[in-house]
Amino acid sequence: MEGGVGTRRRATGFRSRSVDPEVDGSGVFGASETSPLLMRDRAPSMWGRLRNRFRSITAAEQQHPAEYVAPHRRHFARQMVYESLDYEITESRVEMKERRKLTLKDHFRDVILRWVILFFIGIFTAFAAFAIDVGIKIISKYKFGFIRDSISRCTKHDCLSQSFGIWVGLDILLVGLAGVMVCFIAPIAAGSGIPEVKCYLNGIKMPEVVRLKTLVTKAIGVMFAVSGGMTIGKEGPMIHSGAVVAAGLSQGKSTSIRWLDTRFLKQFRNDVEKRDFVSGGAAAGVSAAFGAPIGGVLFSLEEGASFWNQFLTWRIFFCSMTATFVLNILLSTFENGNPGALSNPGLINFGKFEDMPYNLSELPLFIIMGVIGGLLGAAFNSINEKLTHFRMHHVFTPHAKLLEVLAVTVLTTVIFFTLIFFSDDCLPLGQSPESSSPLQFFCEEHQYSAMGALLFNTPEDSIKNLFHGPKDAYTSSTLAFFAIAYWALACITYGLSIPSGLFVPCLLTGASWGRLVGNIMASIFPGATWVIPGKYALIGAAAMLAGVVRMTISLTVIIIEATGNVTYGLPIMLAVIFAKLVGDYFNEGLYDIHIELKHIPLLPWAPPPVASHRLQAQDFMSRDIQCVRMLNRVGDIYRLLRTSKHNAFPVIAWHEDATVETNGLAIVQGMVLRQHLIALLKHRGYGHKIGNMVAKNELALDELTQDYPRWPKISSVDVPKEDYDMWMDLRPYMNPSPYLVQASCSLAKIFRLFRTMGLRHLVVVNKMNELVGLVTRKDLANITNDMKREDFLHSRLS
Ligand code: ATP
Repeated sequence: MEGGVGTRRRATGFRSRSVDPEVDGSGVFGASETSPLLMRDRAPSMWGRLRNRFRSITAAEQQHPAEYVAPHRRHFARQMVYESLDYEITESRVEMKERRKLTLKDHFRDVILRWVILFFIGIFTAFAAFAIDVGIKIISKYKFGFIRDSISRCTKHDCLSQSFGIWVGLDILLVGLAGVMVCFIAPIAAGSGIPEVKCYLNGIKMPEVVRLKTLVTKAIGVMFAVSGGMTIGKEGPMIHSGAVVAAGLSQGKSTSIRWLDTRFLKQFRNDVEKRDFVSGGAAAGVSAAFGAPIGGVLFSLEEGASFWNQFLTWRIFFCSMTATFVLNILLSTFENGNPGALSNPGLINFGKFEDMPYNLSELPLFIIMGVIGGLLGAAFNSINEKLTHFRMHHVFTPHAKLLEVLAVTVLTTVIFFTLIFFSDDCLPLGQSPESSSPLQFFCEEHQYSAMGALLFNTPEDSIKNLFHGPKDAYTSSTLAFFAIAYWALACITYGLSIPSGLFVPCLLTGASWGRLVGNIMASIFPGATWVIPGKYALIGAAAMLAGVVRMTISLTVIIIEATGNVTYGLPIMLAVIFAKLVGDYFNEGLYDIHIELKHIPLLPWAPPPVASHRLQAQDFMSRDIQCVRMLNRVGDIYRLLRTSKHNAFPVIAWHEDATVETNGLAIVQGMVLRQHLIALLKHRGYGHKIGNMVAKNELALDELTQDYPRWPKISSVDVPKEDYDMWMDLRPYMNPSPYLVQASCSLAKIFRLFRTMGLRHLVVVNKMNELVGLVTRKDLANITNDMKREDFLHSRLS
């Protein structure tokens, strides 16, 4: 260990020591056959096998970290791609020096600044939503107008193939543009972005997730893809857009455009502050999308933020309220031409449900609809999971992805055209739902095609029509065919390389089968005034969405706010809860499925209830920890960083200080992050050693953190050979009070620590407070996810 840096290996002969883990926590190093835990498990129980499994995996991983891929943890190696964010508040000497300089006035200034920034995040998110909405409306107006004229002309002159060609051509052009942007500029902009935002808030550094180019691709892409007639919505991407806006504005600089650095807001350039702003941005996105400020706050709480406090709730609510208010002004002024009448709080407008009471006796029906939503959602998720799996293995080059986008675009248009062509559902014009411009197609004069009204419209307008259309506006066969086709298309489409929201297709599918339930009720109870198809459409929409995404409280509140109807709170809640319960029996929500398929180490809400009390830190921690000393030779640090991929290293005492070492184990003095070691090498934060000190002025916090959030790689730092024998003093830069637990600490307790404190690393010590292991949030995510499956299996077998 001379030289100061290395691996804390077990002392020779330690194995032969008589080990009593109850007396000496260092017993965790003992050979497994001496472990009292295993001796207790004479007939190997499932838990015994599980413990052994994790122990052997950890050992094997440490021997062959790069190659080791256990069959049941194949995803571990891939998870290494994702680093964690630092949500822990550290107290290094240089940080404390800066913090102690702050006066009450500075604190007050920061509080005000946080509110101001959130206010601007709300405004910018509203503008982004408005721009997307206007773009879609303009493009759709021209596209639908053009095709409608062609269809009207060609139904008379028998040239419908020409109209079909125009329709397909326009869709390919529009969706193709979105696909090109995603495939070749910002692949992370694909999908709704909700899983990515969720992971970011959970503490995972998702590459490029909050970059400017992601925002631009997302906004323009969703505009083209929705206008291109895909079975997607613009609302999900709004949440991601809000998050990117927040991440950019709160930092006062752009990492993509290097010269765009205002040099303001430096105090917010860290993961903890940025996470809070991103929570606000995501809430503003929901708020702008659905006109649901409270739903936005709850969404951030339910889906995203792992760490929450009252101040944050209040600030995020302010941000989402700003977003909905500004969007309301913009839409009322520029779209309705009436700035005084603020009546458009969100992009999607479900319309008002007035004079639509429900009976208590209908509640069982709403529950049944919830069950149907759960079943349909589970089937949706299961098929989409298999499809995504297939895509990941067979459609992974940008060109192949683009080709797939174009193929699904053609398929969508063909299905839409076929449905309109073959449906025989002409209805008199008076019955036409208010906001649609009806398509006559093969119908007589003064009639319209009901299927055409559903498909030849923006999805948002179709939802509104299903909610508010008159009783006989849609025949049952139209609704059934439409629901099946839309369900299947939405299932294929989610996961394509285009920005796409899941909310609207789910709502639309649910609204159509919900309305079908309404039609059935109307035929069972002819003439009953309480049978209003619109209310079943509403419950169906909520059930379907909950069956797919499995959100509960935020979804209920979003729908209540979007419909402006508290009366339906209970039926919606019942449908949502039952859809979730039934869906959860079969699989997870679609966002979680996608997160798992990408091997992202997401920390779940809670540890597995039974297993978490049976496993202790010593069962799953990493051993043979790579540490650094308080004083190190530069060459040793440089070599360590070049050979190790770890992002944090426990700091142990200087080797001449004999009192801290016992039997090759050491007492932890602190933790130091890889990025700080690299910054020290980069800025030559080292010097010659004089006694126990290094002759070098401390680096300022600014220098240490100036590269945030894109820390340089060690390969980009050049350390001259002649510096190798100089010394680096880590005492000013290490976190002197990292969180420590005993080796016997239960998984449940460790889990709570990680969740509540936002930890990234946790040091494990024995009864003598000597370093024996390390647990990272990735270790924890792995083990809890693995055990979740084990619990699942167990519950099925027993
Ligand atoms: P991040 O999550 O930011 O990438 P990290 O790289 O420090 O943090 P992980 O990627 O979770 O941590 O580490 C991978 C494996 O290496 C884990 O099993 C972890 O316990 C182990 N590990 C982490 N740091 C060290 C270290 N300093 N010495 C030995 N093993 C470590």
